[in-house]
Amino acid sequence: MKIAIDGPAGAGKSTIAKIVSKTLGYIYVDTGAMFRAIGYQCINNNVSPDDIKAIEDNAKQADVTIKYINDIQRVFLNGIDVTDHLREEAVGNMASAVAVIPAVRESLLDLQRKIASENNVVMDGRDIGTCVLPDAELKIYLTASSKVRAKRRFDELKEKGESPDIDVIEKDIIERDRKDMTRDIAPLKQAEDAILIDSSYMTIDEVADKIISLIPS
Ligand code: C5P
Repeated sequence: MKIAIDGPAGAGKSTIAKIVSKTLGYIYVDTGAMFRAIGYQCINNNVSPDDIKAIEDNAKQADVTIKYINDIQRVFLNGIDVTDHLREEAVGNMASAVAVIPAVRESLLDLQRKIASENNVVMDGRDIGTCVLPDAELKIYLTASSKVRAKRRFDELKEKGESPDIDVIEKDIIERDRKDMTRDIAPLKQAEDAILIDSSYMTIDEVADKIISLIPS
């Protein structure tokens, strides 16, 4: 069984995918974390997001592998577990710059398809329903307004003791969506056979229940 969840930044895909996969006993595959690992390598090497050549060089040297430890995905970059360094906004923004490079997408595509061929999966990302798993049994396009998504992120950062600026967060989210939706290869878009869920006015549990209720028997 393959469940694909795509959608823009901050729509709650990973939160929902974790709940759905746990409820069903499936593996959760966070494909954004794979792009983030390469973005993390670029940041560590002070690469500018506009320097495509330097991103390509870094990507060539970045060997991304995945292990499941107690059913939780861990991401390894050149053999080192970098999972705990990947959630920063800067890493997400660099991941989006890395994600336009064909060679990066091809190598991660093989990894993503291999995991899905060996397990029941809930996989989230931008191109899962359209490109990675076109034959997924259930495809969801999860979205919410940019204001709601920025507010959720703002609350998360406040909770961590940071002092974020909600307008900056919303601007970053809109810019990342623009990049993801307009790139040439595997842009973010709703697959024709995906079911649209707008979570702007839904709770996390309502969204998870809705997805579970849509699984074909
Ligand atoms: O979902 P997350 O915010 O972790 O993704 C980070 C970035 O990785 C996205 O903005 C997107 O550019 C890229 N990505 C992608 N294809 C995927 C998953 C993520 O291009 N399947």
